[in-house]
Amino acid sequence: MHHTKYIFVTGGVTSSLGKGIIAASLAKLLQGKGYSVTIQKLDPYLNVDPGTLNPYEHGECYVTDDGAETDLDLGHYERFLDTPTSQANNVTTGRIYQSVINKERKGEYLGKTVQIIPHITDEIKERIQILGKTGNYDIVITEIGGTIGDIESLPYVEAVRQLLWDLGRENAIVIHLTLLPYLPTSGELKTKPTQHSVKMLMQSGVSPDVLVCRTQYNIGDEIRNKLALFCNVEKQAIIESIDAETIYDVPGLMLEEGLDKVVLSKLHLPNNVVSDLSKWNEFLTKFKNPKHEINIALIGKYVELHDAYKSIVESTIHAGAANDVKVNIKWIHSEDLEVDQVPDILNDMHGVLVAPGFGNRGIEGKIKAVQYARENKIPFLGICLGMQMAVIEYSRNMLGFIDANSTEMDANTSHPVIDLMKSQKEVTDKGGTMRLGAWKCNLTPNSIVSKAYKKDSIEERHRHRYEFNNDYLAQLEKAGMKATGINPETNLVEIVEVENHPWFVGVQYHPEYKSTVLNPHPLFIDFIKASLEHYLVENEK
Ligand code: GLN
Repeated sequence: MHHTKYIFVTGGVTSSLGKGIIAASLAKLLQGKGYSVTIQKLDPYLNVDPGTLNPYEHGECYVTDDGAETDLDLGHYERFLDTPTSQANNVTTGRIYQSVINKERKGEYLGKTVQIIPHITDEIKERIQILGKTGNYDIVITEIGGTIGDIESLPYVEAVRQLLWDLGRENAIVIHLTLLPYLPTSGELKTKPTQHSVKMLMQSGVSPDVLVCRTQYNIGDEIRNKLALFCNVEKQAIIESIDAETIYDVPGLMLEEGLDKVVLSKLHLPNNVVSDLSKWNEFLTKFKNPKHEINIALIGKYVELHDAYKSIVESTIHAGAANDVKVNIKWIHSEDLEVDQVPDILNDMHGVLVAPGFGNRGIEGKIKAVQYARENKIPFLGICLGMQMAVIEYSRNMLGFIDANSTEMDANTSHPVIDLMKSQKEVTDKGGTMRLGAWKCNLTPNSIVSKAYKKDSIEERHRHRYEFNNDYLAQLEKAGMKATGINPETNLVEIVEVENHPWFVGVQYHPEYKSTVLNPHPLFIDFIKASLEHYLVENEK
């Protein structure tokens, strides 16, 4: 029988310490030793999934192959591990309660009073173990969202306490991630907040096996001794996590600190080989030694919060390294383009990327950006809403349909070139009802995309309600905008390209969700390559 081991990652002192990156880095090291690992995130909020959250609140909504709308940390997990996640990898309190309440309504609790303990905690325990039972993983890492001490995370900590008993401490361990703040006035790193946070965790009956300490400066022996003494953790299980230049440095730093070694010994698992990070390090070397630098405009309406476009930014990093080029993202608010001079803003850009989005705000700015990139032959990538804006721009400026629009923005347009999908017409609920997850798409031979992918059929992930209106396909194609990717079952246009332009591609799907460190996305590689060529030509002038 396959025995899965469990690692729980909790956070203390403050939020935003990077539990996701620590979990992903540890998983990478364990994977490098030949273990099969997956990572799960438990989010303590009451939304059933983050799909209904404004990106300003919670950053990007990440979509899996099976169509789950999930937390952006799952993006890190996939990018680091190069293995897909699924609905089971992200569970919220909303989903837990929804499932318990549904069971109660079905009468499954047989007249019992339904309570947080044991019913909610049992549901949490089941969700944690599902991946171990069904996925055949050697190790499941479960990240508990929030900070120890939050009211909302109490049932999760209680479920972890119970599981540690059920499974035994050689099969399940806790890593607590905390912060050692630096006080410039006394020139010291302080351990007190960590001591308090561990104390709080222990009041819930959970003692950490490993402490990972975020810090600006190296922690010396004295601090390690102090933390070990006060926090009930062995000295070798105190791991320093110093501020890194990039998130991609963290696996290497954790290897140096021996996080993988401590974890394996606590889990009674063999530690026979050194983690193989050779491919990872090849990427890091390329990433850190670029031969050129290019500017890519990222045009969106949530640009104040860079996390809203997390996967796009990471995809440009992967593709940049693959092309030996450093990609400088220039964040451009689409509303600024509505009022300001577009050429002034976009003039020194080597590529233009119009981002996904919802609603009216800033769309005229996006359309102007598309027009500028098209007319000035700057490489252009439009993603989801960005692709829709490209279709609207072409219809307005090349077909003369001056009020062409998406019915999302203008229900009364006389030229609805983007329209609500048929399957969406009856939908009224907002949560989990978009066209989601992986769908097949056939590519036109010799198109930019078929050359980039080197394939004639692909599967990409989606998250949208509106689509290219096929009533306009013939006219648009005649005028030079070609549909080069089509869904074979529905005939839905997934990709458009523009003729007589070096690189102009709009995609209805989200390529950014599938780019990983070891497998940069082919479309991003090709877009960055085209942008680099544009830069080289400009530089020769
Ligand atoms: N708002 C558009 C739609 O629903 C685009 C969605 C997106 O960019 N993810 O079709």
